[in-house]
Amino acid sequence: MNEMLLLLHPECLAHETGRHPENPGRLVAIWEALQNASLPAGVSWTEPAPATLEQVLRVHRPELVNLVRELAARGGGAIDADTVTSARSYDAALVAAGGAIAAVRHVLANPGQRAFALVRPPGHHATPEQPMGFCLFNNAAIAVRAALDEHGLKRVAIVDFDVHHGNGTQAVFAAEPRVLFLSLHQFPWYPGTGRLEEVGEGAARGQTVNLPLPAGCGDAAYQAAFERVVEPVVRRFQPELIVVSAGFDAHWADPLAEMAVSTTGFVAMARALAGLADELCQGRLALTLEGGYDRSALASSVVAVTTALAGGEPTDVLGPSPTGELANIEPVLERICRRHGLIREA
Ligand SMILES: [Zn+2]
Repeated sequence: MNEMLLLLHPECLAHETGRHPENPGRLVAIWEALQNASLPAGVSWTEPAPATLEQVLRVHRPELVNLVRELAARGGGAIDADTVTSARSYDAALVAAGGAIAAVRHVLANPGQRAFALVRPPGHHATPEQPMGFCLFNNAAIAVRAALDEHGLKRVAIVDFDVHHGNGTQAVFAAEPRVLFLSLHQFPWYPGTGRLEEVGEGAARGQTVNLPLPAGCGDAAYQAAFERVVEPVVRRFQPELIVVSAGFDAHWADPLAEMAVSTTGFVAMARALAGLADELCQGRLALTLEGGYDRSALASSVVAVTTALAGGEPTDVLGPSPTGELANIEPVLERICRRHGLIREA
């Protein structure tokens, strides 16, 4: 059994978006599902403190922070067609980033324990300059910067399995040699970036690893991508911490994408990442919530991943994709492996 800390805060509900797929009901569904589940004894939860301005400004330009704060102070408003704010969005965004920071701090202070920040707004599309794609501040990036600057870590791996490319996180760390960034995403799809040719810059060249996957990929394809690319690349990097941008919109029931992953597939990814953390970095695994827009699939997948990471046996209430899945992605994996110098399995 493993200890597993959940970071939850009611302020995350105060970011109101109206009729929008990224709404407070997502977190309400997760919290209700967690309360109704029989979770392993090692699962506990706490409220995180908000991120400080200093922590946010290590990732974002002051103009971005001022934009979000001023829009909220005026009662809210749209940043783009997808990304909106309400009166308390600035406070919610600070708490969401604070949740990711608290998850990282917890696993650094407690070897062998895991932590999952169940926060919103999500973060991985927010670039240093631009809130976008439902994201205001980049929670995962802010937490990783805190790990580098406050805890002195030298090698942090970020794995982003949200179905959309983590363009914001990629932009933050493209030239940062202390960070390895891997993103598995549907391609072509929003936001349009994440080609396998995008590999990082300067001293960090090769440390951005994009896995642009065709629509229809399910559990078997993601498992193959983990075995052939994610696991060897993370092993090669030897991280001191693994941070996960955990979006659940690759689920077959999700309305905003076209993948075919089941809850069982997310559990397999979480277990693989926990195995890497155990093998490489004293079990230090911190997750932060990104997307996931079918409430039932999102809530049951979060419960299943939480249960699995705490050493329990999760259930998959929705089952496998009813329309099947694309199993063979060998040509894509072959190209990614070649691009990143990975030796093929015999
Ligand atoms: Zn997404």
